[in-house]
Amino acid sequence: MLGAWRKWRRQRAADQLEIAAAQWQDAEYSLPFLDRLTDDERQRLRALACGFIAEKEWSAAGDLQLTAPIQISIALQACLPILNLGLDWYRGWVGIVVYPGDFVIPRQVVDADGVVHEYDDPVLGEAWEGGPVLLSWFPDHLGLDDIGDVSIVIHEFAHKLDMSNGEVDGMPALHADMRREDWIAAFAAAYGDFRHRLDSGKETGIDPYAAEHPSEFFAVASEVFFEAPELLLDDYPAVYAQLRLFYRQDPLSEAVDVASQQT
Ligand SMILES: [Zn+2]
Repeated sequence: MLGAWRKWRRQRAADQLEIAAAQWQDAEYSLPFLDRLTDDERQRLRALACGFIAEKEWSAAGDLQLTAPIQISIALQACLPILNLGLDWYRGWVGIVVYPGDFVIPRQVVDADGVVHEYDDPVLGEAWEGGPVLLSWFPDHLGLDDIGDVSIVIHEFAHKLDMSNGEVDGMPALHADMRREDWIAAFAAAYGDFRHRLDSGKETGIDPYAAEHPSEFFAVASEVFFEAPELLLDDYPAVYAQLRLFYRQDPLSEAVDVASQQT
């Protein structure tokens, strides 16, 4: 009953949004990793993005002007991971705060002697458990070329999915057809190998930030899964397989089909 009502309210709010085809196209053009989507997937992603824009509470920090193109771009990126999962995976919180560029979060650490140290941590984004997602936006670049090929948005929303089962530990709530042991085996081996590679000075195309914590490894692996899937499949095929099961998408499926037709 409640589910149906929520669905109706979401649909009604989304219907009231008027986003022109040209606005969608502009936003999609700046997100080349959406190119692989079929027409049907693209329509479903737009519909999800509408629901997402409508039901979240958006605010701008500093002097940022929160415009429709910013919201559309963020919504498309945030909804790509849940394209086949549904908007309910982003339930339980509403706030999205967009900053003009990177920002600082005041933090505290307690050292071994019990002394509290306070410092400002410069970040590009942050997802709070049960709270808002904070995102940086670089107004002069609709894409994120200037800060590397990463989607801060996919990264932060992967953290939100990780929080779906409480702990931020690099393992979201898995589907019934997935095995916990398989997930842990794939991610633990990859995380260990990745840290070892960094320690031994080996080059990797994957952001070294993934070595900070298993939850960061999951968030970074999710970015790579959607934006540079070949890289993840080459380096960590077992992680790729688990993410394919979790996201219920295979970003390389078309490439694989083409390859199999050629042989
Ligand atoms: Zn992170």
